[in-house]
Amino acid sequence: MGSFTYKDTYIEDGNKVLEVNVLPEKYCNFDCIFCPIGRSPKKVDTQMTFDGFQESMQDLDNMIEKTKPELIFINSKGEAFVNDRIAEIVSFIKSKGLPVRLLTNGYLLGNASCREIANVCDEVIGEIKVITEEDFQKVQRPIEGYTLEEYISNMVSFNKQYTGKFIFEITIVKGCNDDEVSVQKLKEIIKLLSPSKVIVVRMEDEPFKKKLGISDERYAEITKILLNK
Ligand code: SF4
Repeated sequence: MGSFTYKDTYIEDGNKVLEVNVLPEKYCNFDCIFCPIGRSPKKVDTQMTFDGFQESMQDLDNMIEKTKPELIFINSKGEAFVNDRIAEIVSFIKSKGLPVRLLTNGYLLGNASCREIANVCDEVIGEIKVITEEDFQKVQRPIEGYTLEEYISNMVSFNKQYTGKFIFEITIVKGCNDDEVSVQKLKEIIKLLSPSKVIVVRMEDEPFKKKLGISDERYAEITKILLNK
């Protein structure tokens, strides 16, 4: 039995999507206070070897055969780049003639080997959840030495050379980036980044929704501004 896990397939824009998690448990370079997966007991940004790779790849092959997806979305329990076989996983999926979407928080897109792996993917999702250095340290609790400035510049420089579809996912967090000044700063970052697509989300799941969620009205207003609607 391999260690990859899957979500039920679903249809998005007419395509059948299979989501795969390539980490046996949570491994991330951040430890966000609102992480839906839970705490990061040890923050990591170096590659690790996990047991059962061959079995996991066999399972992935079987899942592709069984579900016949049109897109594979690597959406892991943390940062997928931490898996030292991620390049092989991506190229295996590509060898099946399938496009790959990779979710990363985006920090490691500044790392040359991670960038090389991301460059092979058809779609990459990078994220932003706070807008000040102080909040980045306090709320996203990254590995020591990380800065928000570098985080953004890693994504910007990645996308300058990336030929695929870069999707920028902005999470609106009450008290962190839902005021007018923050929304304008987010707009500037979108301009700098020039992504293929922007997605605006908010805290929707408990227990975080109560404290960090914004109202439907404010969400609609911010989305309108950020998407230039
Ligand atoms: S970046 Fe994502 S996976 Fe990592 S701690 Fe934050 S919310 Fe969790």
